[in-house]
Amino acid sequence: MTAQLNPRGDVAVLVPAAGAGVRLGPGAPKALRLLAGQPLLVHAVRRIAAAPSVHTIVVAAPATEVEAVRAMLAPVASVTVVPGGAERQASVAAALAAVPAGPEIVLVHDAARALTPPQLVESVAAAVRDGHDAVIPVLPVVDTIKEVDATERVLGTVDRSALRAVQTPQGFRRPVLVAAHRSAADALTDDAGLVEKQGIAVTCVPGSELALKVTRPFDLALAEHLLATGA
Ligand code: C5P
Repeated sequence: MTAQLNPRGDVAVLVPAAGAGVRLGPGAPKALRLLAGQPLLVHAVRRIAAAPSVHTIVVAAPATEVEAVRAMLAPVASVTVVPGGAERQASVAAALAAVPAGPEIVLVHDAARALTPPQLVESVAAAVRDGHDAVIPVLPVVDTIKEVDATERVLGTVDRSALRAVQTPQGFRRPVLVAAHRSAADALTDDAGLVEKQGIAVTCVPGSELALKVTRPFDLALAEHLLATGA
């Protein structure tokens, strides 16, 4: 059944889904790889659509797959699909340009984080609503982290208590994200990085183990297991 988004919601969610997924091995673009018989993107969009504040979802699909992605998502939720770009940042910019007037909170969420719970979408949005310009979900770093040189010689041990692993959805006041993308010079791996470069404060909220990014075959196996056990 197609999920009804909330016409009175104040949140637009951009879903960059145009990556090739080289680290998963040969096959379809990553967002279209199957997890328990359904594309990662379908799992991701179903969970976003279940978050009560969501007014709009815009997916950036691989340019050759726009029609296929539209057809795939039509039964899941009412979603706008645009062609993505060569870099993640270009895909996010294309999706941002397609957000209609209305939502003043914009979240950016990787399709590869297919099992992200709707509650995480809500908690990031709530922190922006509470007055933060930019909000990221984070987890503590559990491994010891070393800095190395080009020959893999250890240069030092980093204090992990001051480190955080960053997930998505990342949330922004809409004008903050628009300005950050307008003045973006280098391609960065996340949107909060662009906002930091503007000198704007970025706030952390607790992330979720379920928001893991499916990047390597091991992650796909883990996600299948989590889904089978009720995620
Ligand atoms: O490359 P990485 O795995 O970090 O990609 C994170 C997300 O960005 C994925 O959902 C991927 O589909 C998306 N992406 C994109 N356009 C690109 C590259 C990546 O939408 N050109």
